[in-house]
Amino acid sequence: MEKMQVQFERCKGCGLCVTVCPKKIVALQKEKRNEKGYFTAACTDEDACISCAMCAMICPDCAITIQK
Ligand code: SF4
Ligand code: SF4
Repeated sequence: MEKMQVQFERCKGCGLCVTVCPKKIVALQKEKRNEKGYFTAACTDEDACISCAMCAMICPDCAITIQK
């Protein structure tokens, strides 16, 4: 199961979550834009995620949810 999930349409691609992840596993994906035209963040290695929720806490748009 995915631990970190980005709600695609809420994300504005600001990259803040990329900067705070201690495991360096959050990146802005470059394949698909959301309806607002942003490339959105995604977790690149679910197995490495420690569910610390730093990414969710810093997101100004509350676009990230964490499952334990
Ligand atoms: S929960 Fe922590 S380890 Fe997992 S993606 Fe977010 S910041 Fe990185
Ligand atoms: S901090 Fe939030 S809005 Fe900014 S890129 Fe990450 S998920 Fe998207």
